[in-house]
Amino acid sequence: MINVSRSKSTPRPISLGLALVAAVIWGQAAHAATCPRKDALGTSRILSVDAATTPRVGLKSFPQTLPLEDHEVVLTFDDGPWPATTPKVLAALARECVHATFFLIGKPASEHPELVRRIAAEGHTVGTHSWTHPILSQIKPEDAVDQIDHGISAVEMALHGTATTTPSTPFFRFPGFASTPATLDLLQSRGIVVFGADLWASDWNPMTPAEELKLLTGRLTEAGNRGIILLHDPQKHTADMVPAFLQYLKDNHYHVVHLVPAAAGPKPEVKPEVKPGPKADAAPAKATP
Ligand SMILES: [Zn+2]
Repeated sequence: MINVSRSKSTPRPISLGLALVAAVIWGQAAHAATCPRKDALGTSRILSVDAATTPRVGLKSFPQTLPLEDHEVVLTFDDGPWPATTPKVLAALARECVHATFFLIGKPASEHPELVRRIAAEGHTVGTHSWTHPILSQIKPEDAVDQIDHGISAVEMALHGTATTTPSTPFFRFPGFASTPATLDLLQSRGIVVFGADLWASDWNPMTPAEELKLLTGRLTEAGNRGIILLHDPQKHTADMVPAFLQYLKDNHYHVVHLVPAAAGPKPEVKPEVKPGPKADAAPAKATP
């Protein structure tokens, strides 16, 4: 794991130049100490994302995105956890010692809590993606809020045994990127970062892993060789493609950036009520963004 206590490990250099050198050395040391394969891709750096300064990111939906450098990518996976495929994605990420962000759907998270805990235990960041993946802009506003909260509480229950609607990682992605001004305002008021994406593989469509790899790498080039990448771990062709994609990133000198929530962001609204169990109208998750 790379996200061990950074503050204890980072030296206190006396200049910016030394700070950069120290950061590189620290990163290499952390990588070497935690990654069993010395030729693995590895996570190059940890980027703290603060809702106060970047409440919404991802150029597909918003005018701004994360401050990524040339050849830096962020890996994000939506719609899990899914027992048939998520472990394969986790194994590929672990083999290359890279960390991703998973935007989980609440209902499958409640059905597979051990998989939610495994994702977190392997060092990945866990955001949420509603309770049952409806298009929130097309349902009643109060139902949209319930979808957001129920999704958060299901993931928190799986991770920590507490059905709180205050997320321990305040990262959210709308199903189908279908936000509304009201839900965006609500999430911002609660200090929850809304993630769009900078590029995706359209992996909700049928395709072979080879076709997906070609599409994704082409789009990464078109996007300027950087960005927040959206994939879907419940898609078998994606799970089958991820090892080759990580190899592509390594061969082409990309760097994987691991997102973590800012430690000192605004306090999310506390809503202590405990949600009831699954609703009768719960529908299966759709494998769309
Ligand atoms: Zn989705």
